[in-house]
Amino acid sequence: MTQPHGRWSEVARAVGLLGPDGTARPTIFAEMSALAARTGAVNLGQGFPDVDGPASVVEAAVAAMRSGRNQYPPGAGTPELRRAVVDHQRRHYGLDVDPDREVLVTTGATEALAATVLALAGPGEEVLTLEPFYDSYAAVIALAGATHTTAPLVRVPARGSAPAFRLDEAALRAAFSPRTRLVLLNTPHNPTGAVLSRTELGLVARLAREHDALVVTDEVYEHLVFDGAEHVPVATLPGMADRTLTISSAGKTFSFTGWKIGWLTGPAPLVDAVRAVKQFLTYVSGAPFQPAIAHALTDDAVAAWVRDLATSLAARRDLLCDGLEAAGFTVTRPAGTYFVVADGAPLGFEDGADLCRRLPELAGVVGVPVRAFTRPGSAADDALASAVRFTFVKREDVLHDAVDRLARLAS
Ligand SMILES: *Cc1c(COP(=O)(O)O)cnc(C)c1O
Repeated sequence: MTQPHGRWSEVARAVGLLGPDGTARPTIFAEMSALAARTGAVNLGQGFPDVDGPASVVEAAVAAMRSGRNQYPPGAGTPELRRAVVDHQRRHYGLDVDPDREVLVTTGATEALAATVLALAGPGEEVLTLEPFYDSYAAVIALAGATHTTAPLVRVPARGSAPAFRLDEAALRAAFSPRTRLVLLNTPHNPTGAVLSRTELGLVARLAREHDALVVTDEVYEHLVFDGAEHVPVATLPGMADRTLTISSAGKTFSFTGWKIGWLTGPAPLVDAVRAVKQFLTYVSGAPFQPAIAHALTDDAVAAWVRDLATSLAARRDLLCDGLEAAGFTVTRPAGTYFVVADGAPLGFEDGADLCRRLPELAGVVGVPVRAFTRPGSAADDALASAVRFTFVKREDVLHDAVDRLARLAS
């Protein structure tokens, strides 16, 4: 049989596509989605909304196609979208960004992340992420030939307030080294739902400055925060704007995850470097979707829709979390995102993957083991061995059905 060569094996190893013995296997995401389809279980594994975003945004995309905006757009992004991103950063965060030199439109946050890591890190350099981490981080760090280091988010038990995932300060300090080139942060954080506090971000910022590292922030859930939690972009912290690249996208904010329009803002020399790589990955991104997202970012009615989405997501979070608790899971209630992490240990499951494989038969529901987002043998991997990620970005009737099914676990 013909074996693939090149960097594939490193990427495959980084994301668990290759077992320690070198044999190929499907990702846990593919395995769980197939399991959901085969068993008719409610799929709370994959995080995409089952209701589309605002109709006016769809109409704007249709109008753009009808008016002939169907050829290659400018490489940095269409001027109206770049202006809309700049306006958004100023309105929400007081950030001052130059639409001509400091914005790059990308094919989703995924491409922004990939182009950034490829542009700015390489062999002999370390890219530091939180752990657990979004799965594309490990893959793209491996593609770049850089070394992936991590700082764990740890579940801090209730002491007056609700338990939450927080940065472990000592572990974060220990994770930095003279080779740390990039700190790739994600807040609000997938999969834990943690929204990093100003204090936590201040510590990361100080350590990044001390080690002369750049900070890259994945803020795709910036507007999906609950209970008055505040999302703080690292670029707003003192002294950080000139060493931070801020990444976001339209997918999660506006419930158009299939459109793949993202963007990145930061100092012109860094944006130029990323753009040089992006140019040869995709060249340009989704011409007719760009004016539609410019509309989404600037329209007041769409802004109200996004606020309603966050409110409704908080209610759906509570619905699912209450159901998971009633079923016997220990739940860490998220302050943002689409996801909740639930611990299956109280139900007698030490291994989250084992629990996920049994859950369709036991309760007719599918989740994803949090170990899909950790590195084998790490502290976070150990601590989260029995944890499962569930999404609540589904219609309420779907979640009610899931909660009814989960109740079987308690009986
Ligand atoms: C969904 C997601 C992305 C990908 O965003 P796209 O715009 O769809 O590429 C990136 N980071 C995190 C943490 C996500 O959850």
